Amino acid sequence: MVHLPTIITVSILLNVLIGGFLLSLYILRQQSSYLYWGSSCLIFVVAQITASLRIFIDFPLLTHYLADLFIIAAPLAAILGVHAYNNTDKATLSYCIGVLITSVFVLIPLYNIQINQIFTTFIIACCFSYAAYALRKLQLNRIKHALLLQVCFVLHAILMFLQFVLLMLNSLSWLAIDISQILAVILISHIIITTCTAMIWPLLMFLESEQALTDLANLDPLTGLLNRRAFLNISAKHLEQANNHKKELCALMIDIDYFKKVNDEFGHDAGDEAIKWVANKIQSQLREQDIVARIGGEEFAILLPCTSKENGRTLSERVRLAINSEQFIYQQQAISLSISIGIINHTLGSRNINDLLAQADKGLYKAKNNGRNQVVVMAF
Ligand code: GH3
Ligand code: MG
Ligand code: MG
Repeated sequence: MVHLPTIITVSILLNVLIGGFLLSLYILRQQSSYLYWGSSCLIFVVAQITASLRIFIDFPLLTHYLADLFIIAAPLAAILGVHAYNNTDKATLSYCIGVLITSVFVLIPLYNIQINQIFTTFIIACCFSYAAYALRKLQLNRIKHALLLQVCFVLHAILMFLQFVLLMLNSLSWLAIDISQILAVILISHIIITTCTAMIWPLLMFLESEQALTDLANLDPLTGLLNRRAFLNISAKHLEQANNHKKELCALMIDIDYFKKVNDEFGHDAGDEAIKWVANKIQSQLREQDIVARIGGEEFAILLPCTSKENGRTLSERVRLAINSEQFIYQQQAISLSISIGIINHTLGSRNINDLLAQADKGLYKAKNNGRNQVVVMAF
């Protein structure tokens, strides 16, 4: 049998630890989502302590009404934490304060423990449903962890709605059974899920910031493609594998033709949008295993693993045509773009990635000299 006082004590300790950790993260990083989420943990601790006091003292204003307010405030602070992550907490803050003030005006004057319990259960069921919904709108990279958090919120909402229905039916004397055992199980589940939820959030935030740092180091902010550094690292590994397993690969260098004209005629913003458009077009023609990067202003590099010279040429032509056969539209103006491509096929040998790219770059230079908008295949 689960021992409720032990569960409550463990939950209080864990929530104090996590709440304290999140508040110190807030002091360090000044991100309000940590402040709200940390406060949510600590408010939940206060709610548990004040509610547990009912065993020792007969002071319902504290042990029921104030405890109920704390129980409502905890998920409200969690919702604010979820929203603050997207920096959209202004309106939500007013709604949450509204819900809390309404609860004060409903709970205190009623002064009826049973109805207050029903009201509190209903409000927190709604809070958890809303939290699960709000989480959907967050732009998170770690979808699986966000899903775990969402499952916790949904489970919590279901439990609270179940408790609400049971309490309602019981207050109307429509139930022939004693629901105290079921309510005890729901209470224990409520404490366990809240504690789990409190633990998942910092984990999710940690993984998100790790991902953001990796992205910052490896991705080009304009196009979202790999940057030069990441491209060289990844390509070097592919080249090593190709050498070890005697496989072919191709390296491509791409440069947009007469790009200065685009900037001069349509402005730098149009130029930026054009670079993004070209990046998307290039990517749309590649296979999953191909590696593409923006390695300079309007220059791209591609590595095609396990690709013969002929297949490399066909793919390069496809990329070139994808850009040349359509017009880029910027603020209702049609802009024609083309690219030149130099390509080198690597079969055997211990050349490094810089040698390959230098050779592809020679091809690109030739393509430019031959009149642009074309592919030149190089040989070692
Ligand atoms: P070519 O056909 O010989 O390549 O002619 P080009 O005009 O494209 O010449 P080049 O490749 O040397 O010029 C690159 C130009 O691209 C220079 C710069 O004005 C522009 N550029 C480079 N990076 C960016 C960028 O991030 N945004 C914008 N809008 N323009 C850029
Ligand atoms: Mg150019
Ligand atoms: Mg260039």
